[in-house]
Amino acid sequence: MAHIDTDRRDFIKYSTLGILGLTLGGGMVFSPYLAAGENRLRPPGAVDEKKFLALCIKCGQCVQVCPFHSIKLSDMLKGAGAGTPYIDANERACYSCTAVPCVLACPSGALDHHCEKPEDIHMGIAVLEFPDTCLAISQTAIPKGFNEKMHNFTDSVRNVTEIEKELVEKLDSYEGKECTLCADMCPIPNPMSAIAMVSDAGGGYKPEIYAGCIGCGACQDVCPTTIASIVVKPRMTYDEYYKKA
Ligand code: SF4
Ligand code: SF4
Ligand code: SF4
Repeated sequence: MAHIDTDRRDFIKYSTLGILGLTLGGGMVFSPYLAAGENRLRPPGAVDEKKFLALCIKCGQCVQVCPFHSIKLSDMLKGAGAGTPYIDANERACYSCTAVPCVLACPSGALDHHCEKPEDIHMGIAVLEFPDTCLAISQTAIPKGFNEKMHNFTDSVRNVTEIEKELVEKLDSYEGKECTLCADMCPIPNPMSAIAMVSDAGGGYKPEIYAGCIGCGACQDVCPTTIASIVVKPRMTYDEYYKKA
């Protein structure tokens, strides 16, 4: 019986949101977020999702202090979490700052202050989701202009920081080289505990993920393929993904 109630609740919830989506879109649009649920990357230190939604007061303090402009606030089409902070690693990942300023800025406990350094962050786990498109496996050089996305993002930011400029410059230097970007740009203090390039059966290389990955999404952000070959599974742990697999 319990699942029938849940299904009915979900039906009512999504029907209502669906109607809202249709209304807002003039009857033409259905937002994928309405059905996607709350499975997105939260800022470092985020407590479990249910608690996070209860504690977050949507003040935007974490957004203000992030020197990479990584954190955004959900818009009203994102269901129960409207106004809460999240990170879209396809646009700008977390670069795991040493002192984790976003956590320090959080006044509500939604970002747990026990998260004091990059190694304490557990946002998710990286996965080579699309090995067929990985440039290292196919031994394809990083194409010219691959870094346009980063340039555009940085150009769109009003108070761009030095650290962001350095990131863009560093990435530019990879043009035409063989791709090791995901491993090279892993920002944690001991990146080898999270990711390394290893030999692939086809003669190329491939990224391999280890238990030290904190799920910051930087590898996803810098991956030069049209749809990132490597992605972060939000809230998932290494054991949950790799040991199950
Ligand atoms: S750790 Fe740094 S880069 Fe990551 S979200 Fe917090 S402030 Fe932004
Ligand atoms: S492997 Fe990717 S998600 Fe994991 S810590 Fe490194 S950059 Fe972040
Ligand atoms: S960044 Fe990593 S996953 Fe993406 S193409 Fe390069 S080696 Fe492959």
